[in-house]
Amino acid sequence: MAEQSSSEQRSREHSSEQTSREPRVVVVGGGYGGATVAKELDDVADVTLVEPRDAFVHAVGALRAVVDPDWESRVFLPYDRLLRRGRVVQATAQSVTPHEVRFAAAAGAPPHATGTDWGSRSIPADYLVLATGTAYPFPAKFIETDTWVAQARLVRLREALAACDRVLLVGAGPVGLELAGELLSAFPRLGITIVDQAHDVLTTGDYLPELRSSVRAQLEERGVVFELGAPLGYLPPRDVGLFEPFTVETTAGARVDAQLWFRCYGNRPLTDYLDGPLARARRWSGEVSVTPRLNVEGFETVFAVGDITDVPETKRAASAQAHAGVVAANIRALIEGRDPTATYTPAPELVILPLGTDGGASQLLDEEGVRRVLGPEETRRLKGADLYSGRYAELLGVQG
Ligand SMILES: Cc1cc2nc3c(=O)[nH]c(=O)nc-3n(C[C@H](O)[C@H](O)[C@H](O)COP(=O)(O)OP(=O)(O)OC[C@H]3O[C@@H](n4cnc5c(N)ncnc54)[C@H](O)[C@@H]3O)c2cc1C
Repeated sequence: MAEQSSSEQRSREHSSEQTSREPRVVVVGGGYGGATVAKELDDVADVTLVEPRDAFVHAVGALRAVVDPDWESRVFLPYDRLLRRGRVVQATAQSVTPHEVRFAAAAGAPPHATGTDWGSRSIPADYLVLATGTAYPFPAKFIETDTWVAQARLVRLREALAACDRVLLVGAGPVGLELAGELLSAFPRLGITIVDQAHDVLTTGDYLPELRSSVRAQLEERGVVFELGAPLGYLPPRDVGLFEPFTVETTAGARVDAQLWFRCYGNRPLTDYLDGPLARARRWSGEVSVTPRLNVEGFETVFAVGDITDVPETKRAASAQAHAGVVAANIRALIEGRDPTATYTPAPELVILPLGTDGGASQLLDEEGVRRVLGPEETRRLKGADLYSGRYAELLGVQG
């Protein structure tokens, strides 16, 4: 509580200081949520976006880039044209308190990273937005911060896939199933085994049985073998995505021979940088506790959006962007001296799950608000064909 009051006092001091200059908004993390909030506030504040990568990563399209090199330009989108007035600082936030972001610069920070005190490696903030998302194993997400390094890894993976005839996917959630669909679109004769300890596919969301059976039937028709109901006894003794024959067994005794494997589970919130009083808002899961206005619990000028929040919903890019809209409205209101009244209500569970360019299934709400399962043709039309790449090229100001 002491920290909270001193934080409020600091916040009041900052607002009187602010009257003489433009308010400084610092957004930490430039994914779907952070890039959206930064762009929405660019006209009303001095915005700094802190992001270690040299390009926005459109993770929703990442699995198609595994098999199709033409997709790399739709997955890695440069930040240069995101902000008209503000700036993107290529750096990793290492310690974040309510009014300061201390960072480590990424190697080879580019010339567009201007406007920051590189000497002290710190950026002051009147308003702070935390948007650092989650880490997920390659190839759904990348640990590489340089686009050319991530792309080189994709090239090596494609070479390995071309030489491979059996792949193991561990995890029958949306990522494992979508990856299987992409792999089979490009390599129709590839043998794929999907192992999961759960007794069915897609067990982590509130999905209708027809959705599960449709996805499973489409993949089985293409030759995918499901080993469900028992975990692997041990993980393959190889790094993911590297070609080398191996054999593993599930605890139920099913044997899987393959030459490549992928870990398709393990979304981990990236919030280790929260420091001082802000660290108390981090939950055991790594998520950050937020209020309906998406303030970090206990802090009027600190907000969080996207996968790191503890909002009870499936983690989605669309939700991160909806959070961004709420936070941008609230910060704009505070800057203009109004009450911040925008709140976020989680949307009902939905999924659009492509299986390559022409397969898949979706669960959406119809006009009466009833949940409906749609088949491959509608799924291709809604998402499978372009994986929303046009929408995010537009957000980043990249011409198609
Ligand atoms: C294969 C795949 C398919 C998906 N398909 C869909 C879909 O169809 N529809 C949908 O709605 N969602 C989809 N999702 C989920 C979606 O990608 C996430 O929900 C979304 O990325 C969350 O956005 P975010 O802004 O919270 O975080 P991210 O997009 O993960 O962005 C976080 C950013 O923060 C940066 N960062 C991390 N740590 C630091 C730090 N210390 N300092 C500074 N910056 C930092 C990262 O580099 C990253 O750029 C998919 C995810 C995957 C993996």
